Amino acid sequence: MLASKLYAPTLREVPSDADVVSQQLMLRAGFMRKVANGLYSFLPLGWRSIKKIEAIIREEMDRSGAQEVMMPILQPADIWKESGRWNAYGAEMMRINDRHDVEYCLGPTHEEMITTLVKNEINSYRQLPVNLYQIQSKFRDERRPRYGLMRSREFIMKDGYSFDIDDAAADVSYKTMYDAYSRIFTRCGLTFRPVEADSGAIGGSNTHEFMAIAEAGEADIIHCSACDYAANIEIGKPGIMKQVEEDLKELEVVDTPQASTIEAVAEMLNLPLEKTIKAVVYAIEDKVILAMVRGDHDVNEVAVQHAVNGSVEPEMATPEQLEKVGLTAGFISPVGLKQTDDFAIVVDESVMETYNVCGGANKADAHYININPKRDFNTEDIIVAPIRLITKDDVCPECHSPLEYSKGIEVGQVFKLGTKYSESLQATYLDQNGRPNAMVMGCYGIGVSRTLAAAIEQYHDENGIIWPRAIAPFEVVIVPINAKDEALMSTSTTIYDTLLNDKVDVLLDDRKDRAGVKFKDADLIGYPLRITVSKNTLESNEVEIRIRKTGEAINCPIGEVSGKVQ
Ligand code: ATP
Ligand code: MG
Ligand code: MG
Ligand code: MG
Repeated sequence: MLASKLYAPTLREVPSDADVVSQQLMLRAGFMRKVANGLYSFLPLGWRSIKKIEAIIREEMDRSGAQEVMMPILQPADIWKESGRWNAYGAEMMRINDRHDVEYCLGPTHEEMITTLVKNEINSYRQLPVNLYQIQSKFRDERRPRYGLMRSREFIMKDGYSFDIDDAAADVSYKTMYDAYSRIFTRCGLTFRPVEADSGAIGGSNTHEFMAIAEAGEADIIHCSACDYAANIEIGKPGIMKQVEEDLKELEVVDTPQASTIEAVAEMLNLPLEKTIKAVVYAIEDKVILAMVRGDHDVNEVAVQHAVNGSVEPEMATPEQLEKVGLTAGFISPVGLKQTDDFAIVVDESVMETYNVCGGANKADAHYININPKRDFNTEDIIVAPIRLITKDDVCPECHSPLEYSKGIEVGQVFKLGTKYSESLQATYLDQNGRPNAMVMGCYGIGVSRTLAAAIEQYHDENGIIWPRAIAPFEVVIVPINAKDEALMSTSTTIYDTLLNDKVDVLLDDRKDRAGVKFKDADLIGYPLRITVSKNTLESNEVEIRIRKTGEAINCPIGEVSGKVQ
């Protein structure tokens, strides 16, 4: 590719609404343009990198035995109604009606679609396992589209789904995908960590998120300084729950009765009760309990908004309001919610009667165990207790070493779904004895466009992007410092042809601009290697090869360039 032909309009000014580095740099360097809130067009440079990430994903998915398919983006509402998610998905789902007034959505994910597809084709255990994936645009009407490609409303996702005969087989599929994901993000050059995530069920490792470690990340993660333990500190806190489980081994674990008050909340939020709201109650000496309401983000955010407004009106909290209470997640209170600076609480009336108090927290230095009813709160009139979530003093639940904290960008997630969708959508197969069984499913997502942004968050400096080579739009740029000089151009062209021949992804900056301009652009766009062709080095039949990442430069005989940059 010749730079004179490349459509890569760079910007001098950083657009004022670009709130993270990756977004600023991608706009400045001509990788993409904003169309509207949460919508972006990829320009050639951005699209080249996207295609490289996709190629890595395809190679690793195919290697793992998964097969690529392509399903429609447009999905009929029927299947979502059947699974119970048409309402549950809430405002995040983009909905449309066709000319006959039939309802559809633009796929935010494809469990319903794939399950429907597979159930019509698979009848026997002999046809399992099956693992299918696609790479496609997904649509989510995010409450707060922001951070450029990291949280957009249309984004590219690799979504995959496995179908197995039983849990043991599904575990194998899960592990295979987990390993494939580790290879994918390693090959993309990311610094990442798989973390245990909230699976909507206490304990267990039913799901892992792959977190790219970066300050711009929206997720808080903890990891052990000594072993592999790592978890997402969001509501659910599997790591913490493990600790709680350990602490409370001897104690009774009671499922919260599905009281009418909780049902009322579910109805208010337009969410099916069994899918989105679940409380688990731990009793300690029959007096103090920890109750956690689990649900999707919508539930949590509404809970936060309860905390903010002290009301049950399902109106949205503004970012400022959220910031004021410093909450990242909250708890639903069907009977009224009280909130202190660092703490929100859930109480279900029927639980109250049985156990006195429920507690939960989402901020450091509040207690989650050892709540002392008389000391920490007054049982007569309050249902709020400072409870500890996790603090710097906490230790790894696996090996008791100190924990470390970081911010992460969720670039992928693997999930054991069990029979959730195969049951609701009746995806069954006949086993060896001719009996029907629900297929055991897993789902596996990668944010392709988010991965691109995450890489830039991790690799940049004040001059621009520093691409990991595997996903750079071009691996090498050749810069003749004066494109009007025939000798320089002809040497540059020779090197260019050689590299192309040797399958190096190379760009020749044949523009008539000053060398300084070309160097600046090369740094901004972030090509891993720059070959500078100048009179000085040409005298000794050499060119300079400079590594973007380290700034290190060496002179290299022209004949050896190709071997050197491989
Ligand atoms: P988040 O917690 O950030 O909202 P999610 O858990 O809702 O993400 P999944 O349903 O697990 O997302 O989707 C699979 C992957 O798709 C995510 O791991 C993430 O990399 C990517 N993704 C999800 N939402 C977006 C978005 N709005 N913009 C870009 N990528 C996204
Ligand atoms: Mg989301
Ligand atoms: Mg998530
Ligand atoms: Mg996720």
